[in-house]
Amino acid sequence: MNYSNKKSITDIPIKNKTVFLRCDLNVPLDSKLNIVDTKKIDESLKTINYLIENNSKIIICSHLGRPKNKNDSNFSLKPIANYLSKALAKEVVLLPEITGENTKKTIDNLNFGDICMLENIRFDKRETENDDNFSKELASLADVYINDAFAVCHRTHASTVGITKYLPSACGFLVEKEITILENALKSPKRPFVAILGGAKVSDKIEVINNLLSKVDTLIIGGGMSYTFTNALGYSIGNSICEKDKISTAKDIMAKAKEKGVKILLPLDNIVGLEYSADTEFKTVDSDKIPNGWTGLDIGSKTTKLFSETILKAGTIIWNGPMGVYEWKNFQKGTAKIAQAVAKSGAISIIGGGDSAAAIQNLGFKDKVTHVSTGGGATLKFLEGKSMPALDAIDEK
Ligand code: AMP
Repeated sequence: MNYSNKKSITDIPIKNKTVFLRCDLNVPLDSKLNIVDTKKIDESLKTINYLIENNSKIIICSHLGRPKNKNDSNFSLKPIANYLSKALAKEVVLLPEITGENTKKTIDNLNFGDICMLENIRFDKRETENDDNFSKELASLADVYINDAFAVCHRTHASTVGITKYLPSACGFLVEKEITILENALKSPKRPFVAILGGAKVSDKIEVINNLLSKVDTLIIGGGMSYTFTNALGYSIGNSICEKDKISTAKDIMAKAKEKGVKILLPLDNIVGLEYSADTEFKTVDSDKIPNGWTGLDIGSKTTKLFSETILKAGTIIWNGPMGVYEWKNFQKGTAKIAQAVAKSGAISIIGGGDSAAAIQNLGFKDKVTHVSTGGGATLKFLEGKSMPALDAIDEK
């Protein structure tokens, strides 16, 4: 997998052209449809501004959530179009019909340098089916296709893959940045290279671990997934989350790591709760002594010390997944301490989207890390060493 040979927005004629720009503007909204976190929109501005400067006519396309019904107003891109209009100090015209005569007419009537936005692309179910006719209809709106939606580059949809059959294509600045940072870290990392994996399940991350074992020096495993590993070592884990059918996989991973000289660090101690709830009674116990009836909900202080010592000496860090149930105040200390160590390390640090990105952001460390990815699932696919269909589809230089 090598995407450095893919065309960039700077390699393709876009001056005075109509450009179909696939962004990922899938931002969280509250119950009043206010945007809770604008990061993904803000990260898209560089490409949009570049197109404006080059007098392109811009058609922005994005999905928002997973709408079940067509035109469900809770999933409309209206709040996003409004925010973008303000951020760009320029009207962003929202087109209620994704394709069709009205949409075509409105786009034809726009001037070069103007911007419009198609309604939520997932209002048309042909999007996720990668329908060929739909891809053609989308392509017929523009002269050039730019993909700046890293978070959906692992998806084979009409607006990420199908459309590229019918238009010259290139990557936007955000996609380019995400690929370059991840590729550099995986190909020529500054050592020691440390991966930190956490979160709920081992099963989601087995392929990531298998791929990283031939690249990293140390693999730190925390969070819910660590209990499958400590259970594989024969430790009692009480009611902690454990994937029994992955115990032999955990054993294989540990054996493979030993063979390759990769150090695996597991929690030495844990904060355990009497119940799986935010305000349950809790205490700290060693990893091999979790009592029956208690559940591991965070890493303990001996563990944060052990993990932090390694993190502080790292040259490159990739982190995906929290160290505990960080959504609950009593169990967020482990994740916060690890975030603090990553921020302090001075290493090239990449936060792989999802919960760990939210944790870094909420704890105020966003500016102290090298890169916070805009795509959790897409980053995991990249770390698995798997190909990304939407990137495969982009024209080569
Ligand atoms: P993932 O999407 O796999 O990165 O998992 C993130 C989720 O893992 C978060 O919602 C955490 O609450 C959850 N998590 C982390 N540690 C634990 C734990 N010890 N027990 C249960 N869930 C956990």
